[in-house]
Amino acid sequence: MAPRLPRRRHKKSPTVAPVVVIPLTVVTPLPLTLSKPGPSIDAHGFFSLDSNVPGLSQLILQKLNMKSYEEYKLVIDGGIPVSGFGFQCPQEMFQRMEDTFRFCAHCRALPSNLSDSKVLRHCKRCRNVYYCGPECQRSDWPVHRKVCQELRLVAVDRLMEWLLATGDFVLPSGPWPWPAEDVQDWNTWFSMRGLQIDATLNAIIGSHAMTSLWASVGRPRPDPDDLKGSLRRLLTDVLSRPLTLGLGFRVLGIDVRKTGGSAVHVVGASHVETFLTRSGDYDELGYMFSGHLGLHVIMVGVDVSADFLHSTSASPLEPGTVQLSGHRSLYHDFWEEQIETGKIAYPDMVVAFHPGFHASLNLMEAWLPTLLLLRDYKIPTLITVYSHQELAASLQILVNLDIHVTAYGANPFTSLKPEQVYSNPNKQPVYCSAYYIMFLGPAR
Ligand SMILES: [Zn+2]
Ligand SMILES: [Zn+2]
Repeated sequence: MAPRLPRRRHKKSPTVAPVVVIPLTVVTPLPLTLSKPGPSIDAHGFFSLDSNVPGLSQLILQKLNMKSYEEYKLVIDGGIPVSGFGFQCPQEMFQRMEDTFRFCAHCRALPSNLSDSKVLRHCKRCRNVYYCGPECQRSDWPVHRKVCQELRLVAVDRLMEWLLATGDFVLPSGPWPWPAEDVQDWNTWFSMRGLQIDATLNAIIGSHAMTSLWASVGRPRPDPDDLKGSLRRLLTDVLSRPLTLGLGFRVLGIDVRKTGGSAVHVVGASHVETFLTRSGDYDELGYMFSGHLGLHVIMVGVDVSADFLHSTSASPLEPGTVQLSGHRSLYHDFWEEQIETGKIAYPDMVVAFHPGFHASLNLMEAWLPTLLLLRDYKIPTLITVYSHQELAASLQILVNLDIHVTAYGANPFTSLKPEQVYSNPNKQPVYCSAYYIMFLGPAR
């Protein structure tokens, strides 16, 4: 049978060739260095890995059997035939994936830089960073000790993510048994779904998929509590986005009982939001607002994955359903071509996950037309950032643009999965959508 692209589904999918997910794990940390939007930004982010670890981008391509960044990008876009990879078996795939992390965390040496007698060995505690020898490991410890514990979790999550991609980890779903007002954060959400989650997690932990995963990865299987912890973190990572949209609806007071339904545009969307994303992933948003008359989530960005575009369709919005669709475009172009011409209605809310406009002048330039447009059309908007520092920097920029910030703070639905800075593993891991900012219109 020809290999097929693995998909995350809410129903169990047939076994598929385990290949294309690898770049997802490799790519996830990239937005930390430089993120969307702009067609060339991702390439920039990819090659900027080399400024921390010279030669790392080449190592990644080589280990993943890819010739160029263009090929890598095609995979992220979901537009490459999977048969082109040529991994013989899951063992080889996991080995190659692990090899992309194989550089000395202290002196940055790659395997190719070492003399024949030397090999890179991982830290025994976290199994996540590598050292070319005991000297480097010793010198690195004062820095590494601060993140070793957290990086251990990252290393487990990275492998467990595979079960999401293959469809073996099916997220708990279904109407909320509690009134939505009682569910204001992860703690209450987990309490509400408690029994259901226990049953789900126990089933996965006892599954054949779990056994074969750990048989393939060539490292000891963690104990059930560690595996459960990881599954819970992955769950928050997937559901963080829909529930953060829900937070925006609540705080910004969006009317979800509007005739014809309500629309939210996710701006600057890229492979991060759309690769392996399926419509069911946002059902939780619908359950948060029982009695809603249809919710349409439109992903707009130049890097929206092709696979996502093909997997979604814009059929009429039914009350009580959540619909996903995508547009490959910069938002201000999308606005001109789709909204101003009346093809698509004004959004009830706009969301940007980690726009990153505080990070560089280039990104600020790319975002400026969109920010001004949102301000001038008084569109309720929510953005998220990774850290308190980014929160402060972003707030300053919005205030300087004369934008009326209505709320900001720690996101009660942040992802609880730590993200390692790929080329600089000793940097403090961060959490997706850890903080939010909401704004509406001009300051005066
Ligand atoms: Zn070293
Ligand atoms: Zn360690």
